[in-house]
Amino acid sequence: MKRKELTCIVCPNGCPLEIEFEEEPALKVIEVQGHTCDKGPKWAEQELTNPMRTIASNVSVKNGDFPLVSVRTDGPIPKQRIFDVMTEIRSATVKAPVAIGQVLIKNPAGTDCNIIATRHVNPA
Ligand code: SF4
Repeated sequence: MKRKELTCIVCPNGCPLEIEFEEEPALKVIEVQGHTCDKGPKWAEQELTNPMRTIASNVSVKNGDFPLVSVRTDGPIPKQRIFDVMTEIRSATVKAPVAIGQVLIKNPAGTDCNIIATRHVNPA
């Protein structure tokens, strides 16, 4: 049996979690301690088996009153896909106007998420 300490990042409480798990024959979480709600153990299991993250970045805007629009993923993506998704975000250019919540890139790098705008950009 192995042990790992992680800080839960689901909410700002940041509960310190102690996780007991087995790696053979397959990774299996045995016990999680230190959580103050049910989301902690679920997150710990996800973090050990397939860690997920959300991304925030910027996309270039053509003919806008700002040259960039802030964006984020509309859901978490597998941590190992972050580089591919960031590459797609960096190479994208959109045309003004851009509205908050508008999907600017659908399923980047083949993931299930979309890249959405988090601010308005008006035409220049
Ligand atoms: S265990 Fe629950 S309360 Fe603690 S950080 Fe995670 S989500 Fe927040």
